[in-house]
Amino acid sequence: MEKKGTLIVISGFSGVGKGTVVKRLVQDYGYSLSISATTRAPREGEVDGREYYFKSKEDFMNLIDYNGFIEWAVYVENYYGTPRAFVEKELAAGHNVILEIEVQGALNIKSQYPDAVLIFLTAPSAEVLKNRLIGRGTEDPAVIEKRMKRAVEESEDMDQYEYIVVNDDLDQCVKDVNSVIVAKSCRLEENIEFMKEMKAELKAL
Ligand code: 5GP
Repeated sequence: MEKKGTLIVISGFSGVGKGTVVKRLVQDYGYSLSISATTRAPREGEVDGREYYFKSKEDFMNLIDYNGFIEWAVYVENYYGTPRAFVEKELAAGHNVILEIEVQGALNIKSQYPDAVLIFLTAPSAEVLKNRLIGRGTEDPAVIEKRMKRAVEESEDMDQYEYIVVNDDLDQCVKDVNSVIVAKSCRLEENIEFMKEMKAELKAL
């Protein structure tokens, strides 16, 4: 009774610790992680093919033309997109795939893949969020300002998500996100095919 994999969309405010949470979900629970392409410049320590595939704008546009993305969006003046080939291959193999993407991309995914689980990560408060962004030290003040403005916009979209998880304690947050995914996969509507087969098998015994 093979099941196709599920897409798990994780969004959240800039600086909320999405990257760390997602890495732990991969390590602790074996989820597949989709690596996005972006036209943003690499931050210190970021490696091409690990955090992102770093692309020129021209290469990114070509990938759009060749239907290379299942979704793409512009965020703070840069392009970001989810490569199609990896996601389709992993889902077909029955793996659950995590996409760490922003709101426009999340909604786009939900309309194409209605079974996708949409999770929004938030800090316990706006104050904590701003302090984390400053503390990260990777962005200059103008960019922080832009990202906080964007956070205000993103807060308007929080109610488009199915689950809101607070990242206060990292271990707890990772457990909570996994619990959400497990709970969703156990829902009746996710198991219609399984039930049919089970009923048929029982009758045939
Ligand atoms: P950052 O520049 O901080 O790595 O990412 C900026 C934003 O882009 C984050 O909200 C991140 O989740 C989002 N993002 C990363 N990859 C993708 C993608 O492939 N598609 C979309 N729509 N958003 C992405």
